[in-house]
Amino acid sequence: MPCDLLAIGAHPDDVELMCGGSVAKAARAGRVVGLLDLTRGELGSRGDPETRRAESLEAARILGAAFREALDLGDGGLRTGREEELLLAAKIREHHPRIVLAPFREARHPDHARAGRLVSDASFLAGLAKLGVPGPPHRPDRVVYYMERYLFLPSFVVDVSEVWETKMAAIRAFGSQFHREGSSEPRTHLSRPEFLGEIDARGRFFGSQVGVRYGEAFFSEIAPKVDDLFAAFRGLEPSFNPVEDAIPE
Ligand SMILES: [Zn+2]
Repeated sequence: MPCDLLAIGAHPDDVELMCGGSVAKAARAGRVVGLLDLTRGELGSRGDPETRRAESLEAARILGAAFREALDLGDGGLRTGREEELLLAAKIREHHPRIVLAPFREARHPDHARAGRLVSDASFLAGLAKLGVPGPPHRPDRVVYYMERYLFLPSFVVDVSEVWETKMAAIRAFGSQFHREGSSEPRTHLSRPEFLGEIDARGRFFGSQVGVRYGEAFFSEIAPKVDDLFAAFRGLEPSFNPVEDAIPE
């Protein structure tokens, strides 16, 4: 089944953490959304790949995704050679997405940085008729990058206020990765009790940038077309221009 949106992560839970709201919002609007994890997360300090796979399927269900697939390109050393480019190009052809979401290419985690480059390259290559991989040529309209730890000036922010609880529920589905009282698993960046609060703070911050409660930030080398200039900036100056959807007190 061709999908409208294909959200690609290096590891299971990347998509939920960094663009889960945008994924849930697209699904809620009736778009066909697919998820693709490039690795199984086998190097994660907590849990194991089987647990994370089960958790990831539950998270996909919560987000409203039509499918979730996982490749095995090597957690902690994500491979980006010709073989991986062609494998991913074949996946792009198979799922026929219009928009692809990928990690930004400047990232703290090397797998995220490599994944961003790989997805970008494979999405272009998938449109070359003589590439020699299965399926008819297809190139997504755009690869758009979501924000990991490193900040960038966003090209646009998606208002995810209405689906924020859905995003957080999908994140919590990864029970092996996050804080649990009494757990004897090793402590990680994600498992600190403060971590979910930090996700909330980031969502609130980018929401505040565009005059809504919660937002997710994206980068695109090409600016998105805006159809309604007024809608694009509505809510930024609610004290001067009251609007129904201004941020509630
Ligand atoms: Zn990751």
